[in-house]
Amino acid sequence: MPELPEVQTIVSDLKKVLPKLKIRDVWCDFKKMIKQPESFAQFKKMVIGKKFLDVKRKGKNILINLSENKTLLIHQKMTGHMLYGKIDPQDRFIHLVFTLSNGKHLALSDIRKFAKVLICETDRLDTLKDIKDIGPDPLDKTFTFKKFKEIFSKKKGVIKNGLMKQEIIAGIGNIYANEILWEAGIHPFKKIQKIKKEEFEKIYKAIKKILKQGVRMRGDSVVDYRDAFGKKGRYQNFHKAYQKEGEKCSKNDGGIIKRIKETGRSAFFCPKHQKL
Ligand SMILES: [Zn+2]
Repeated sequence: MPELPEVQTIVSDLKKVLPKLKIRDVWCDFKKMIKQPESFAQFKKMVIGKKFLDVKRKGKNILINLSENKTLLIHQKMTGHMLYGKIDPQDRFIHLVFTLSNGKHLALSDIRKFAKVLICETDRLDTLKDIKDIGPDPLDKTFTFKKFKEIFSKKKGVIKNGLMKQEIIAGIGNIYANEILWEAGIHPFKKIQKIKKEEFEKIYKAIKKILKQGVRMRGDSVVDYRDAFGKKGRYQNFHKAYQKEGEKCSKNDGGIIKRIKETGRSAFFCPKHQKL
């Protein structure tokens, strides 16, 4: 699933190309992905003729501001993927295509068809469940250590699951959660309530560092992620823990990366510097 750095890469790409363009037409062959308004006919009416103003992100949501107080929210979910350019009409994974005033396309490709798209009034965005029910964005300037500690010290369960819960903190998934905890030296199954202040500090710093690194590398293409122009990211070449089981820990502490599975998700960690 695309996580914060992958979504941010797509948002930055789209921000470069979309503003000032207009939507000429829209096509969709999987209308269920549009959650709001109720019908595709209404959706079409709402977007045609609108101008792109800006592209933003909250957590894993892509927010495309259009003229006349409209915002398009796209959540790519498991395999969704926004593409810009000339779209191959033979590509059967493309389910939504906007034709733009420059003749190019903005498309949503989605192999597993879990992606969701909706449109709402820009000034009512904060009332939307997808926005109001998620936690703070970890790369937002207002996400301070104080705020992080405040949020987490009330939580139960293990730290890795906590980091991945979108209602607590928005944007981290399985890859970056593993990398963040490796960096911080915290065992993925450590109970949140047992985490000390210094350890919270390490996790907070690692969140910022690893996510920024992911953004710099233009995302992680260990699975099928591509940027808005169809190019791979590079973060998969820098993993220290994720899918590194059996390899030597790169902290040179003699540890061998281990993998444990819990509720279908794998945790990767070094037993030497990430002790329970
Ligand atoms: Zn280690």
